[in-house]
Amino acid sequence: MASVEFVDVRKSFGAFPVIKGVDIEVADGEFVILVGPSGCGKSTLLRMLAGLENISAGEIRIGSRVVNGLAPGERDIAMVFQNYALYPHMTVAQNMAFSLMLKRAPKADMDQRVNKAAGILGLTKLLDRYPRQLSGGQRQRVAMGRAIVRDPQVFLFDEPLSNLDAKLRVAMRAEIKELHQRLSTTTVYVTHDQIEAMTMADKIVVMHDGVVEQVGAPLDLYDRPANLFVAGFIGSPA
Ligand code: ADP
Ligand code: MG
Repeated sequence: MASVEFVDVRKSFGAFPVIKGVDIEVADGEFVILVGPSGCGKSTLLRMLAGLENISAGEIRIGSRVVNGLAPGERDIAMVFQNYALYPHMTVAQNMAFSLMLKRAPKADMDQRVNKAAGILGLTKLLDRYPRQLSGGQRQRVAMGRAIVRDPQVFLFDEPLSNLDAKLRVAMRAEIKELHQRLSTTTVYVTHDQIEAMTMADKIVVMHDGVVEQVGAPLDLYDRPANLFVAGFIGSPA
C-alpha cells in the first residue's frame, strides 16, 4: 500500500487547459472517489496518475516516490476501466494471468496469485470458462481479478460500473467495497455518479471544470457543501 499525492498538477491539451492546479491527498489504504460532471477532467487526472498521460506541471507522488517521469509499468498500480475488454480466446485464468505472463512470472507464483484472486472474487469454479460464457457481473469480477493478481500498491478505477445495468451496478458497488475492506489497498476511483460516490467513498473529491471544488467525507459534503456547485451536484438525482 502507498499514499498518493497530487501537488498543483496542471494539464493542457495544446493551448487548452483541462486541469488547472489540482491538489489531492490520498492516505495509505484510503478509498477516495473523484466525482464530477462529464468533461471536468477526472479521467485525465487518473490517466496522469497511471502514467498514460504526461503532466504539464506539478508533481504526482506514489508513496515517497515522485512518479512524473515513470512509465506505467514502473508505478506499481493497476487500473480497472469502464470498457474492461477481456481476451475472448483466453479462459478466465488466462485472462487473469496475462499481465504476469508478460512479466515472465514463474508458473507456480502465477497460479498461486490467480487462485488467490479467484477465491477472493468467487471465481474459483469459473477459471476454465471463456468470457462469452460469463454474465456481466462475472466479467467485471475477472477485470478486477486482473488487477488483484498484480498485488499493486494502488488500485485505479475509471467508471468501472457505467456499462452495467442498474441492479448489477448496485451489487458491484458492494463487492468493490468488500474487496477494499479485505485488501485495504489504496484506491482512487472515478465516477460521474454522485450516489456511487456518496455510498462508496471514505473521502470524496468534487471536481468541476479542471479544479477541485471540495474535499470531504460523504456526510461532510452533504451537510456542509462549500458552494452552490457542490450543493447542486451532490443534491441532484443520479
Ligand atoms: P471526464 O473524465 O471528467 O469526463 P476527461 O478527463 O476525459 O473528463 O476530459 C477533460 C477535458 O479534456 C475534456 O474537455 C476533454 O474533451 C479534454 N480531453 C481529454 N483528453 C483529451 C485529448 N487527448 N486531447 C484533447 N482534449 C482532451
Ligand atoms: Mg472520464
